[in-house]
Amino acid sequence: MIDVHAHLGKVMHGYPALTAEKLLRFMDQYGIAKSVILPLVAPEEEDYYYTTEQALADCAKHPDRLIPFANMDPRRGQNDGSYDFYPVLKEYADSGCKGFGEILANLPTNDPRMKGIYRACGRLGFPVVFDFRWLRTSGVTDPVGMPFLEECLKEFPETVFVGHGPSWWAEISADVTAEQKKDYPKGPLVTPGRIDHLLATYPNLHADLSANSAINAFSRDLVYARKFVLRHYKKLMFGTDRFVREEEPVMIDLLRNMNLPKEIETAVFTHNAEHLLNLPNGAHSFVPTSPEEKNRRSAKCKQ
Ligand SMILES: [Zn+2]
Repeated sequence: MIDVHAHLGKVMHGYPALTAEKLLRFMDQYGIAKSVILPLVAPEEEDYYYTTEQALADCAKHPDRLIPFANMDPRRGQNDGSYDFYPVLKEYADSGCKGFGEILANLPTNDPRMKGIYRACGRLGFPVVFDFRWLRTSGVTDPVGMPFLEECLKEFPETVFVGHGPSWWAEISADVTAEQKKDYPKGPLVTPGRIDHLLATYPNLHADLSANSAINAFSRDLVYARKFVLRHYKKLMFGTDRFVREEEPVMIDLLRNMNLPKEIETAVFTHNAEHLLNLPNGAHSFVPTSPEEKNRRSAKCKQ
């Protein structure tokens, strides 16, 4: 398995730091071969930054397990959309970064400052991970129906956009309201939702299945969620977004309990990420080495 959405560092006041050692133990426990480390650099989101340089340094100690992404605040430069992100991002790419994100700046998806990032990432082949939301006035914003995202999908066909976050997953239901996009809406789905249409229409749109927002969306209607995965499985990637509360990866069981065809399950858990990030194949057959995990697995087999 590959987790395309993981975090490290001391980012929130009052919580212990997320260390690479703890993350590796967690990965071993759940059979996760590799994790993508997303730096966090939005002033409205964290108490402390976890920078691209820190991600590169942490990942360099575990190159077979941890994959660094780059991150820069869209308001870099003169905060007017004129900044050229390419030179710095090219340096990060040359240092080993495989993508960009996650973006938590509280800006509209189609803001000129955001477009500067998409332009540079398209040139570098960096997928861009977003956190779409309104919660606590952080995260990227888009009105109901995500017209700003659609504008950018058309304008930057070379750039891969990866959807994530409450305001993205709220759009799994066609009757979503602006108020619901601020939250984790409950209740049955009216289908197909807007993200169904966007994923079907734009080859450069993908999504990660990380965090409570994806778990909440799928849990609203597991029968529909299974159909959603079957329709879009080539563009969906497993992730955890394990954060300061060190949440358990509920999505693993949620996907396994869907009884998907094996090749579809493997695509979502592993192969799509390998393909998108140009990683060597092999994470699917990862066998954790920790004795606890070996015991846990053999106990599970005997059940
Ligand atoms: Zn995250």
